[in-house]
Amino acid sequence: MRRRRHPSMLQVFNDNFNRAARYLKAPADLLESIRVCHHMYSMQFPVRIKGKVQMFHAFRAEHSQHRLPTKGGIRFAPHVDLEEIAALAAIMTLKCAIADLPFGGAKGGIALNPRDYEGEELERITRRYTAELVRKDFIGPGIDVPAPDLGTGEREMAWIADTYNMMHPSGLDNMACVTGKPIAQGGIRGRREATGRGVVYVLQEFFRHPELVHTARLHGGLAGKRVVVQGLGNVGSHFACLVQEAGAVIVGIGESDGTIYAPAGLDVNEVLQWRATSGSIRNFPDAKTLDRSTDCLELNCDILVPAALENQLTADNAPRIKAPLIAEAANSPTTSQADAILRQRGTIIIPDIFANAGGVTVSYFEWVKNLSHMRFGRMAKRVGIQTQRRMIQGIEEMTGQPFPATLRAEVSQGIDELELVNSGLEETMIQAFQLILATMHQHNIEDLRTAAFVCGLQKVVIAYEQLGIWP
Ligand code: NAD
Repeated sequence: MRRRRHPSMLQVFNDNFNRAARYLKAPADLLESIRVCHHMYSMQFPVRIKGKVQMFHAFRAEHSQHRLPTKGGIRFAPHVDLEEIAALAAIMTLKCAIADLPFGGAKGGIALNPRDYEGEELERITRRYTAELVRKDFIGPGIDVPAPDLGTGEREMAWIADTYNMMHPSGLDNMACVTGKPIAQGGIRGRREATGRGVVYVLQEFFRHPELVHTARLHGGLAGKRVVVQGLGNVGSHFACLVQEAGAVIVGIGESDGTIYAPAGLDVNEVLQWRATSGSIRNFPDAKTLDRSTDCLELNCDILVPAALENQLTADNAPRIKAPLIAEAANSPTTSQADAILRQRGTIIIPDIFANAGGVTVSYFEWVKNLSHMRFGRMAKRVGIQTQRRMIQGIEEMTGQPFPATLRAEVSQGIDELELVNSGLEETMIQAFQLILATMHQHNIEDLRTAAFVCGLQKVVIAYEQLGIWP
Protein backbone atom coordinates (compact mmCIF):
# COMPACT_ATOMS: atom_id res chain seq x y z
CA MET A 1 0.00 0.00 0.00
CA ARG A 2 1.38 3.40 -1.00
CA ARG A 3 2.11 5.80 1.90
CA ARG A 4 0.31 9.10 1.62
CA ARG A 5 1.81 12.47 2.48
CA HIS A 6 -1.57 14.18 2.43
CA PRO A 7 -5.09 13.24 3.50
CA SER A 8 -6.67 10.98 0.90
CA MET A 9 -9.06 12.39 -1.67
CA LEU A 10 -11.80 10.39 0.02
CA GLN A 11 -11.10 12.12 3.33
CA VAL A 12 -11.23 15.49 1.60
CA PHE A 13 -14.52 14.54 -0.08
CA ASN A 14 -15.97 13.35 3.23
CA ASP A 15 -14.90 16.56 5.00
CA ASN A 16 -16.64 18.66 2.34
CA PHE A 17 -19.68 16.36 2.33
CA ASN A 18 -20.05 16.52 6.11
CA ARG A 19 -19.73 20.31 6.18
CA ALA A 20 -22.50 20.57 3.57
CA ALA A 21 -24.71 17.92 5.18
CA ARG A 22 -25.28 20.23 8.16
CA TYR A 23 -27.36 22.51 5.90
CA LEU A 24 -29.68 19.73 4.75
CA LYS A 25 -32.82 18.53 6.48
CA ALA A 26 -32.48 15.00 5.07
CA PRO A 27 -32.21 12.09 7.55
CA ALA A 28 -28.66 11.15 8.49
CA ASP A 29 -29.04 7.58 7.19
CA LEU A 30 -30.22 8.80 3.78
CA LEU A 31 -27.21 11.11 3.57
CA GLU A 32 -24.92 8.27 4.60
CA SER A 33 -26.32 6.07 1.85
CA ILE A 34 -25.61 8.86 -0.64
CA ARG A 35 -22.07 9.48 0.68
CA VAL A 36 -20.71 5.97 0.25
CA CYS A 37 -19.62 4.43 -3.04
CA HIS A 38 -22.10 1.74 -4.12
CA HIS A 39 -20.15 -0.39 -6.59
CA MET A 40 -16.40 -0.87 -6.77
CA TYR A 41 -14.53 -3.19 -9.07
CA SER A 42 -10.86 -3.83 -8.54
CA MET A 43 -9.12 -6.08 -11.05
CA GLN A 44 -5.70 -7.37 -12.01
CA PHE A 45 -4.97 -8.62 -15.49
CA PRO A 46 -1.89 -9.75 -17.39
CA VAL A 47 -0.57 -8.12 -20.56
CA ARG A 48 2.59 -9.16 -22.37
CA ILE A 49 4.95 -6.18 -22.57
CA LYS A 50 8.22 -6.53 -24.50
CA GLY A 51 8.13 -10.31 -24.17
CA LYS A 52 7.37 -10.38 -20.41
CA VAL A 53 3.99 -10.76 -18.79
CA GLN A 54 3.15 -7.81 -16.57
CA MET A 55 0.20 -7.60 -14.16
CA PHE A 56 -1.85 -4.40 -14.21
CA HIS A 57 -3.99 -3.17 -11.35
CA ALA A 58 -7.11 -1.38 -12.54
CA PHE A 59 -10.38 -0.06 -11.11
CA ARG A 60 -13.86 1.20 -11.83
CA ALA A 61 -16.17 2.69 -9.23
CA GLU A 62 -19.85 3.54 -9.68
CA HIS A 63 -20.68 5.83 -6.82
CA SER A 64 -24.43 6.15 -7.23
CA GLN A 65 -26.94 4.74 -9.68
CA HIS A 66 -29.78 7.11 -8.81
CA ARG A 67 -29.41 8.20 -12.44
CA LEU A 68 -28.26 5.84 -15.17
CA PRO A 69 -25.88 5.53 -16.84
CA THR A 70 -23.15 6.47 -14.43
CA LYS A 71 -20.45 8.69 -15.89
CA GLY A 72 -16.84 9.55 -15.19
CA GLY A 73 -13.35 9.59 -16.63
CA ILE A 74 -10.62 6.98 -16.77
CA ARG A 75 -7.17 7.97 -15.55
CA PHE A 76 -3.84 6.37 -16.28
CA ALA A 77 -1.52 7.34 -13.44
CA PRO A 78 0.96 5.46 -11.26
CA HIS A 79 -0.67 6.50 -7.98
CA VAL A 80 -4.22 5.37 -8.82
CA ASP A 81 -5.91 3.15 -6.22
CA LEU A 82 -9.45 2.06 -5.42
CA GLU A 83 -9.99 4.66 -2.70
CA GLU A 84 -8.94 7.51 -5.00
CA ILE A 85 -11.22 6.20 -7.76
CA ALA A 86 -14.14 5.92 -5.31
CA ALA A 87 -13.59 9.52 -4.18
CA LEU A 88 -13.45 10.77 -7.76
CA ALA A 89 -16.64 8.83 -8.54
CA ALA A 90 -18.36 10.52 -5.59
CA ILE A 91 -17.22 13.93 -6.86
CA MET A 92 -18.77 13.00 -10.24
CA THR A 93 -22.17 12.28 -8.66
CA LEU A 94 -22.37 15.79 -7.22
CA LYS A 95 -20.80 17.39 -10.30
CA CYS A 96 -23.48 15.87 -12.55
CA ALA A 97 -26.21 16.94 -10.14
CA ILE A 98 -24.93 20.54 -10.01
CA ALA A 99 -24.67 20.75 -13.81
CA ASP A 100 -28.11 19.14 -14.20
CA LEU A 101 -26.84 16.13 -16.15
CA PRO A 102 -28.84 12.89 -15.93
CA PHE A 103 -25.98 10.71 -14.69
CA GLY A 104 -24.78 9.04 -11.52
CA GLY A 105 -21.08 9.41 -10.77
CA ALA A 106 -18.34 6.96 -11.73
CA LYS A 107 -14.58 6.88 -12.26
CA GLY A 108 -11.98 4.41 -13.45
CA GLY A 109 -8.26 4.04 -13.68
CA ILE A 110 -5.26 1.89 -14.35
CA ALA A 111 -2.19 2.16 -12.12
CA LEU A 112 0.50 2.89 -14.70
CA ASN A 113 2.57 5.74 -16.02
CA PRO A 114 1.59 6.13 -19.70
CA ARG A 115 5.06 7.51 -20.46
CA ASP A 116 6.54 4.08 -19.64
CA TYR A 117 4.71 2.35 -22.51
CA GLU A 118 4.64 2.41 -26.31
CA GLY A 119 1.33 3.34 -27.99
CA GLU A 120 0.75 -0.23 -29.11
CA GLU A 121 1.31 -1.51 -25.54
CA LEU A 122 -1.12 1.04 -24.16
CA GLU A 123 -3.63 -0.11 -26.75
CA ARG A 124 -3.43 -3.72 -25.57
CA ILE A 125 -3.71 -2.65 -21.91
CA THR A 126 -6.71 -0.40 -22.65
CA ARG A 127 -8.47 -3.05 -24.71
CA ARG A 128 -7.95 -5.67 -22.00
CA TYR A 129 -9.24 -3.25 -19.34
CA THR A 130 -12.35 -2.60 -21.48
CA ALA A 131 -12.94 -6.33 -21.93
CA GLU A 132 -12.78 -6.76 -18.13
CA LEU A 133 -15.33 -3.95 -17.71
CA VAL A 134 -17.62 -5.60 -20.29
CA ARG A 135 -17.37 -8.97 -18.54
CA LYS A 136 -18.62 -7.47 -15.27
CA ASP A 137 -21.19 -5.13 -16.84
CA PHE A 138 -19.26 -2.04 -15.75
CA ILE A 139 -19.58 -0.31 -19.13
CA GLY A 140 -22.42 0.32 -21.59
CA PRO A 141 -24.49 3.18 -23.07
CA GLY A 142 -27.14 2.72 -20.37
CA ILE A 143 -24.89 1.34 -17.63
CA ASP A 144 -21.65 3.26 -17.20
CA VAL A 145 -20.01 5.57 -19.74
CA PRO A 146 -16.30 6.43 -19.30
CA ALA A 147 -14.51 9.51 -20.66
CA PRO A 148 -10.96 10.92 -20.73
CA ASP A 149 -9.15 12.05 -17.58
CA LEU A 150 -5.55 12.34 -16.42
CA GLY A 151 -3.24 10.51 -18.86
CA THR A 152 -5.97 9.51 -21.33
CA GLY A 153 -7.55 11.18 -24.34
CA GLU A 154 -9.33 10.59 -27.63
CA ARG A 155 -7.01 7.76 -28.65
CA GLU A 156 -7.80 5.66 -25.56
CA MET A 157 -11.54 6.40 -25.89
CA ALA A 158 -11.43 5.15 -29.51
CA TRP A 159 -9.84 1.87 -28.34
CA ILE A 160 -12.51 1.49 -25.66
CA ALA A 161 -15.35 2.16 -28.14
CA ASP A 162 -13.91 -0.30 -30.65
CA THR A 163 -13.40 -3.05 -28.07
CA TYR A 164 -16.92 -2.61 -26.72
CA ASN A 165 -18.30 -2.60 -30.25
CA MET A 166 -16.53 -5.85 -31.13
CA MET A 167 -17.97 -7.51 -28.02
CA HIS A 168 -21.54 -6.32 -28.83
CA PRO A 169 -21.83 -6.96 -32.57
CA SER A 170 -25.50 -6.01 -32.84
CA GLY A 171 -25.58 -3.09 -30.41
CA LEU A 172 -27.27 -0.16 -32.13
CA ASP A 173 -26.11 2.39 -29.54
CA ASN A 174 -22.60 1.04 -29.02
CA MET A 175 -20.90 4.38 -29.77
CA ALA A 176 -22.56 5.85 -26.67
CA CYS A 177 -20.58 3.46 -24.43
CA VAL A 178 -17.80 6.05 -24.01
CA THR A 179 -17.38 9.79 -24.67
CA GLY A 180 -14.42 11.95 -25.61
CA LYS A 181 -13.91 9.97 -28.83
CA PRO A 182 -12.29 11.36 -31.97
CA ILE A 183 -14.84 13.17 -34.17
CA ALA A 184 -14.45 10.56 -36.92
CA GLN A 185 -15.34 7.81 -34.43
CA GLY A 186 -18.51 9.26 -33.00
CA GLY A 187 -17.04 12.15 -31.01
CA ILE A 188 -18.41 15.65 -30.82
CA ARG A 189 -16.86 18.96 -31.78
CA GLY A 190 -15.75 20.96 -28.76
CA ARG A 191 -15.25 18.02 -26.34
CA ARG A 192 -11.45 18.22 -26.41
CA GLU A 193 -11.38 21.78 -25.08
CA ALA A 194 -14.66 21.58 -23.11
CA THR A 195 -13.25 21.39 -19.57
CA GLY A 196 -10.85 24.31 -20.11
CA ARG A 197 -13.51 26.33 -21.92
CA GLY A 198 -15.96 25.64 -19.09
CA VAL A 199 -13.49 27.12 -16.58
CA VAL A 200 -13.28 30.28 -18.73
CA TYR A 201 -17.10 30.54 -18.81
CA VAL A 202 -17.14 30.13 -15.03
CA LEU A 203 -14.60 32.94 -14.58
CA GLN A 204 -16.52 35.20 -16.97
CA GLU A 205 -19.67 34.59 -14.93
CA PHE A 206 -17.76 35.24 -11.70
CA PHE A 207 -16.82 38.71 -12.95
CA ARG A 208 -20.49 39.46 -13.72
CA HIS A 209 -21.14 39.42 -9.94
CA PRO A 210 -19.71 42.61 -8.40
CA GLU A 211 -20.23 41.33 -4.84
CA LEU A 212 -18.03 38.29 -5.51
CA VAL A 213 -15.41 40.38 -7.32
CA HIS A 214 -15.36 42.80 -4.40
CA THR A 215 -15.03 39.97 -1.85
CA ALA A 216 -12.06 38.67 -3.82
CA ARG A 217 -10.49 42.14 -3.54
CA LEU A 218 -10.50 42.40 -7.34
CA HIS A 219 -12.20 44.81 -9.71
CA GLY A 220 -13.24 45.01 -13.36
CA GLY A 221 -13.64 41.98 -15.61
CA LEU A 222 -11.60 38.96 -16.65
CA ALA A 223 -9.70 40.98 -19.28
CA GLY A 224 -6.31 42.05 -17.97
CA LYS A 225 -6.34 39.71 -14.96
CA ARG A 226 -3.03 37.97 -14.24
CA VAL A 227 -3.49 34.21 -14.36
CA VAL A 228 -1.24 31.34 -13.25
CA VAL A 229 -2.02 27.82 -14.43
CA GLN A 230 -0.56 24.59 -13.10
CA GLY A 231 -0.57 21.75 -15.66
CA LEU A 232 -0.49 22.19 -19.41
CA GLY A 233 -2.31 18.99 -20.36
CA ASN A 234 -5.74 18.69 -21.92
CA VAL A 235 -7.52 20.89 -19.38
CA GLY A 236 -4.71 23.36 -18.61
CA SER A 237 -3.54 24.02 -22.17
CA HIS A 238 -7.02 24.70 -23.54
CA PHE A 239 -7.89 26.78 -20.52
CA ALA A 240 -4.72 28.85 -20.90
CA CYS A 241 -5.28 29.47 -24.63
CA LEU A 242 -8.95 30.37 -24.18
CA VAL A 243 -8.49 32.61 -21.13
CA GLN A 244 -5.75 34.43 -23.03
CA GLU A 245 -8.18 34.89 -25.94
CA ALA A 246 -10.65 36.32 -23.41
CA GLY A 247 -8.08 39.03 -22.57
CA ALA A 248 -6.45 37.66 -19.42
CA VAL A 249 -2.67 37.56 -19.13
CA ILE A 250 -0.92 34.29 -18.32
CA VAL A 251 1.97 35.26 -16.05
CA GLY A 252 3.02 31.82 -14.83
CA ILE A 253 2.81 28.17 -15.83
CA GLY A 254 3.73 25.14 -13.74
CA GLU A 255 4.46 21.76 -15.28
CA SER A 256 5.82 18.50 -13.86
CA ASP A 257 9.42 19.69 -14.34
CA GLY A 258 9.19 23.26 -13.09
CA THR A 259 7.59 26.66 -13.38
CA ILE A 260 8.04 29.57 -15.77
CA TYR A 261 7.16 33.10 -14.73
CA ALA A 262 6.94 36.35 -16.69
CA PRO A 263 5.08 39.22 -14.97
CA ALA A 264 4.58 40.95 -18.35
CA GLY A 265 2.84 37.85 -19.73
CA LEU A 266 3.59 34.62 -21.60
CA ASP A 267 2.22 33.74 -25.02
CA VAL A 268 0.64 30.34 -24.37
CA ASN A 269 0.86 29.19 -27.98
CA GLU A 270 4.58 29.98 -28.03
CA VAL A 271 5.06 28.11 -24.73
CA LEU A 272 3.24 25.08 -26.19
CA GLN A 273 5.47 25.24 -29.26
CA TRP A 274 8.56 25.57 -27.06
CA ARG A 275 7.56 22.50 -25.06
CA ALA A 276 6.80 20.54 -28.24
CA THR A 277 10.30 21.15 -29.61
CA SER A 278 12.40 21.17 -26.41
CA GLY A 279 10.38 18.62 -24.42
CA SER A 280 9.95 21.01 -21.47
CA ILE A 281 8.59 24.44 -20.57
CA ARG A 282 11.87 25.20 -18.77
CA ASN A 283 14.09 28.00 -20.06
CA PHE A 284 11.32 29.55 -22.13
CA PRO A 285 12.84 32.79 -23.46
CA ASP A 286 12.11 35.99 -21.49
CA ALA A 287 10.68 34.02 -18.57
CA LYS A 288 12.21 33.10 -15.24
CA THR A 289 12.45 29.33 -14.67
CA LEU A 290 11.76 28.07 -11.16
CA ASP A 291 12.62 24.54 -10.10
CA ARG A 292 9.40 23.09 -8.77
CA SER A 293 5.94 22.76 -10.25
CA THR A 294 4.47 23.91 -6.94
CA ASP A 295 6.45 27.19 -7.17
CA CYS A 296 3.77 28.40 -9.58
CA LEU A 297 1.14 28.19 -6.83
CA GLU A 298 2.83 30.91 -4.79
CA LEU A 299 3.30 33.43 -7.61
CA ASN A 300 1.87 36.91 -7.55
CA CYS A 301 -1.34 36.82 -9.62
CA ASP A 302 -5.08 37.52 -9.58
CA ILE A 303 -6.32 34.05 -10.50
CA LEU A 304 -4.70 30.69 -9.79
CA VAL A 305 -5.89 27.68 -11.77
CA PRO A 306 -4.58 24.28 -10.63
CA ALA A 307 -5.17 22.00 -13.64
CA ALA A 308 -2.87 19.05 -12.96
CA LEU A 309 -3.01 16.83 -9.88
CA GLU A 310 -4.73 16.48 -6.52
CA ASN A 311 -3.32 17.72 -3.18
CA GLN A 312 -1.35 20.64 -4.59
CA LEU A 313 -2.63 23.32 -2.20
CA THR A 314 -1.71 22.06 1.24
CA ALA A 315 -1.42 23.29 4.83
CA ASP A 316 2.23 23.90 4.03
CA ASN A 317 1.88 26.28 1.07
CA ALA A 318 -1.63 27.71 1.69
CA PRO A 319 -0.34 30.58 3.90
CA ARG A 320 1.89 31.69 1.03
CA ILE A 321 -0.75 31.58 -1.76
CA LYS A 322 -1.13 35.13 -3.07
CA ALA A 323 -3.98 34.67 -5.55
CA PRO A 324 -7.25 36.06 -4.13
CA LEU A 325 -9.23 33.82 -6.51
CA ILE A 326 -8.66 30.13 -7.25
CA ALA A 327 -10.56 28.12 -9.88
CA GLU A 328 -10.08 24.38 -9.41
CA ALA A 329 -9.78 22.93 -12.90
CA ALA A 330 -8.13 19.79 -11.49
CA ASN A 331 -10.04 17.41 -9.24
CA SER A 332 -9.36 17.77 -5.51
CA PRO A 333 -6.28 20.04 -5.80
CA THR A 334 -6.91 21.49 -2.30
CA THR A 335 -6.59 19.54 0.94
CA SER A 336 -9.14 20.21 3.69
CA GLN A 337 -6.51 21.95 5.82
CA ALA A 338 -5.49 24.22 2.95
CA ASP A 339 -9.14 24.92 2.23
CA ALA A 340 -9.71 26.03 5.84
CA ILE A 341 -6.60 28.25 5.80
CA LEU A 342 -7.56 29.85 2.48
CA ARG A 343 -11.16 30.41 3.57
CA GLN A 344 -9.92 32.10 6.72
CA ARG A 345 -7.67 34.34 4.65
CA GLY A 346 -10.63 35.35 2.46
CA THR A 347 -9.45 33.59 -0.68
CA ILE A 348 -12.36 32.69 -2.95
CA ILE A 349 -12.24 29.16 -4.32
CA ILE A 350 -14.44 28.07 -7.21
CA PRO A 351 -14.56 24.35 -6.40
CA ASP A 352 -13.74 21.42 -8.69
CA ILE A 353 -17.23 19.87 -8.48
CA PHE A 354 -18.45 22.90 -10.39
CA ALA A 355 -15.44 24.57 -12.07
CA ASN A 356 -14.39 21.56 -14.16
CA ALA A 357 -17.90 20.30 -15.03
CA GLY A 358 -17.49 21.47 -18.63
CA GLY A 359 -15.96 18.15 -19.68
CA VAL A 360 -18.81 15.97 -18.47
CA THR A 361 -21.32 18.49 -19.81
CA VAL A 362 -20.04 18.16 -23.37
CA SER A 363 -19.67 14.42 -22.81
CA TYR A 364 -23.42 14.47 -22.12
CA PHE A 365 -23.97 16.18 -25.49
CA GLU A 366 -21.79 13.54 -27.16
CA TRP A 367 -23.74 10.72 -25.51
CA VAL A 368 -27.05 12.25 -26.66
CA LYS A 369 -25.61 12.68 -30.17
CA ASN A 370 -24.56 9.00 -30.24
CA LEU A 371 -27.99 7.85 -29.04
CA SER A 372 -29.79 10.04 -31.58
CA HIS A 373 -27.42 8.93 -34.35
CA MET A 374 -27.41 12.46 -35.72
CA ARG A 375 -25.06 15.40 -35.64
CA PHE A 376 -26.41 18.45 -33.78
CA GLY A 377 -27.56 21.21 -36.12
CA ARG A 378 -28.09 18.95 -39.14
CA MET A 379 -31.88 19.39 -39.30
CA ALA A 380 -31.99 23.10 -38.52
CA LYS A 381 -28.98 24.54 -40.34
CA ARG A 382 -30.60 25.28 -43.73
CA VAL A 383 -33.78 26.65 -42.13
CA GLY A 384 -31.59 28.97 -40.06
CA ILE A 385 -29.67 30.20 -43.08
CA GLN A 386 -32.87 30.88 -45.06
CA THR A 387 -34.48 32.69 -42.13
CA GLN A 388 -31.40 34.87 -41.68
CA ARG A 389 -31.34 35.68 -45.41
CA ARG A 390 -34.99 36.76 -45.31
CA MET A 391 -34.30 38.90 -42.23
CA ILE A 392 -31.37 40.58 -43.98
CA GLN A 393 -33.55 41.18 -47.04
CA GLY A 394 -36.28 42.69 -44.84
CA ILE A 395 -33.82 44.97 -43.02
CA GLU A 396 -32.40 46.17 -46.36
CA GLU A 397 -35.90 46.85 -47.74
CA MET A 398 -36.94 48.72 -44.58
CA THR A 399 -33.80 50.84 -44.30
CA GLY A 400 -32.91 51.19 -47.97
CA GLN A 401 -29.32 50.45 -46.92
CA PRO A 402 -27.19 47.44 -47.80
CA PHE A 403 -26.59 45.08 -44.83
CA PRO A 404 -22.92 45.33 -43.69
CA ALA A 405 -20.91 42.79 -45.71
CA THR A 406 -18.83 41.62 -42.72
CA LEU A 407 -21.95 40.87 -40.65
CA ARG A 408 -23.76 39.29 -43.60
CA ALA A 409 -21.25 36.45 -43.84
CA GLU A 410 -21.38 35.87 -40.08
CA VAL A 411 -25.16 35.77 -39.65
CA SER A 412 -25.97 33.84 -42.80
CA GLN A 413 -23.69 30.89 -42.03
CA GLY A 414 -26.23 29.06 -39.91
CA ILE A 415 -25.44 27.38 -36.62
CA ASP A 416 -23.24 24.29 -36.62
CA GLU A 417 -22.44 21.63 -34.06
CA LEU A 418 -19.54 23.46 -32.42
CA GLU A 419 -21.57 26.61 -31.84
CA LEU A 420 -24.43 24.61 -30.38
CA VAL A 421 -22.05 22.69 -28.11
CA ASN A 422 -20.37 25.85 -26.83
CA SER A 423 -23.73 27.52 -26.35
CA GLY A 424 -25.01 24.55 -24.34
CA LEU A 425 -21.80 24.49 -22.32
CA GLU A 426 -21.92 28.20 -21.49
CA GLU A 427 -25.59 28.01 -20.53
CA THR A 428 -24.93 24.99 -18.28
CA MET A 429 -22.02 26.65 -16.48
CA ILE A 430 -23.93 29.92 -15.96
CA GLN A 431 -27.07 28.17 -14.72
CA ALA A 432 -25.04 26.05 -12.32
CA PHE A 433 -23.17 29.09 -11.00
CA GLN A 434 -26.45 30.92 -10.39
CA LEU A 435 -27.88 27.91 -8.61
CA ILE A 436 -24.83 27.73 -6.33
CA LEU A 437 -25.10 31.45 -5.56
CA ALA A 438 -28.82 31.11 -4.80
CA THR A 439 -28.04 28.18 -2.45
CA MET A 440 -25.31 30.25 -0.82
CA HIS A 441 -27.70 33.12 -0.12
CA GLN A 442 -30.59 30.87 0.91
CA HIS A 443 -28.54 29.09 3.57
CA ASN A 444 -26.25 31.96 4.48
CA ILE A 445 -23.21 29.92 3.46
CA GLU A 446 -19.90 31.76 3.24
CA ASP A 447 -17.96 29.74 0.70
CA LEU A 448 -18.69 28.46 -2.80
CA ARG A 449 -17.44 24.93 -2.10
CA THR A 450 -19.93 24.29 0.70
CA ALA A 451 -22.69 25.93 -1.34
CA ALA A 452 -21.85 23.74 -4.37
CA PHE A 453 -21.89 20.59 -2.21
CA VAL A 454 -25.23 21.60 -0.65
CA CYS A 455 -26.65 22.33 -4.08
CA GLY A 456 -25.53 18.96 -5.52
CA LEU A 457 -26.61 17.04 -2.44
CA GLN A 458 -30.06 18.62 -2.42
CA LYS A 459 -30.64 17.36 -5.94
CA VAL A 460 -29.39 13.86 -5.19
CA VAL A 461 -31.57 13.68 -2.06
CA ILE A 462 -34.63 14.63 -4.14
CA ALA A 463 -33.72 12.02 -6.76
CA TYR A 464 -33.36 9.30 -4.10
CA GLU A 465 -36.72 10.25 -2.60
CA GLN A 466 -38.49 10.51 -5.97
CA LEU A 467 -37.17 7.25 -7.30
CA GLY A 468 -38.23 5.44 -4.20
CA ILE A 469 -34.69 4.22 -3.66
CA TRP A 470 -35.14 5.39 -0.13
CA PRO A 471 -37.94 3.47 1.64
P1 NAD B 1 -3.62 15.40 -18.78
O1 NAD B 1 -2.98 14.10 -18.52
O2 NAD B 1 -4.06 15.75 -20.15
O3 NAD B 1 -2.69 16.60 -18.28
C1 NAD B 1 -2.07 16.65 -17.03
C2 NAD B 1 -0.92 17.63 -17.17
O4 NAD B 1 -0.37 17.86 -15.88
C3 NAD B 1 0.22 17.09 -18.05
O5 NAD B 1 0.65 18.10 -18.92
C4 NAD B 1 1.30 16.73 -17.04
O6 NAD B 1 2.61 16.85 -17.57
C5 NAD B 1 1.04 17.76 -15.97
N1 NAD B 1 1.58 17.40 -14.67
C6 NAD B 1 1.79 16.16 -14.15
N2 NAD B 1 2.32 16.26 -12.93
C7 NAD B 1 2.42 17.59 -12.67
C8 NAD B 1 2.89 18.34 -11.57
N3 NAD B 1 3.34 17.75 -10.47
N4 NAD B 1 2.83 19.68 -11.66
C9 NAD B 1 2.37 20.30 -12.76
N5 NAD B 1 1.93 19.65 -13.83
C10 NAD B 1 1.95 18.31 -13.78
O7 NAD B 1 -4.85 15.46 -17.76
P2 NAD B 1 -6.13 16.39 -17.85
O8 NAD B 1 -7.20 15.63 -18.54
O9 NAD B 1 -5.75 17.73 -18.30
O10 NAD B 1 -6.56 16.43 -16.30
C11 NAD B 1 -6.00 17.37 -15.39
C12 NAD B 1 -6.89 17.46 -14.17
O11 NAD B 1 -8.19 17.88 -14.58
C13 NAD B 1 -7.10 16.15 -13.40
O12 NAD B 1 -7.25 16.44 -12.04
C14 NAD B 1 -8.42 15.65 -13.96
O13 NAD B 1 -9.07 14.77 -13.06
C15 NAD B 1 -9.16 16.95 -14.12
N6 NAD B 1 -10.29 16.90 -15.06
C16 NAD B 1 -10.09 16.53 -16.35
C17 NAD B 1 -11.17 16.53 -17.23
C18 NAD B 1 -11.02 16.21 -18.70
O14 NAD B 1 -11.98 16.42 -19.45
N7 NAD B 1 -9.89 15.74 -19.17
C19 NAD B 1 -12.45 16.88 -16.77
C20 NAD B 1 -12.61 17.26 -15.44
C21 NAD B 1 -11.51 17.27 -14.60
